Amino acid sequence: MSFQDKVLTCRDCGKEFLFSAGEQAFYAEKGFQNEPTRCRNCRATRKGASGTVSPDGGAPRSLYPAVCSECGKETQVPFRPTAGKPVYCRECFQRRGSAGARPAGRRSPAYLD
Ligand SMILES: [Zn+2]
Ligand SMILES: [Zn+2]
Repeated sequence: MSFQDKVLTCRDCGKEFLFSAGEQAFYAEKGFQNEPTRCRNCRATRKGASGTVSPDGGAPRSLYPAVCSECGKETQVPFRPTAGKPVYCRECFQRRGSAGARPAGRRSPAYLD
């Protein structure tokens, strides 16, 4: 079976990109059923944005999708959410931070004693 270079349209940016014979052979070898739907750029972008674990473990900026345990809003956190542990969106995190762990300023326990 021989392959020929093919031009596909990226579903994300709408640009045409080449699905080369070499890539097609690679896909066939891997048993992939579907042709790529996104250009190289968009694939790279999505990989980076979706928080896929990088093999080198060195991406400090990758965000993981999570649902806030407090308000139920969808959010992103810079760590992998652990099952059973609450995750907070930025707002709830800040609200809890200022109300809880470290009362700073106007709600100092010193005034209440
Ligand atoms: Zn694209
Ligand atoms: Zn929240």
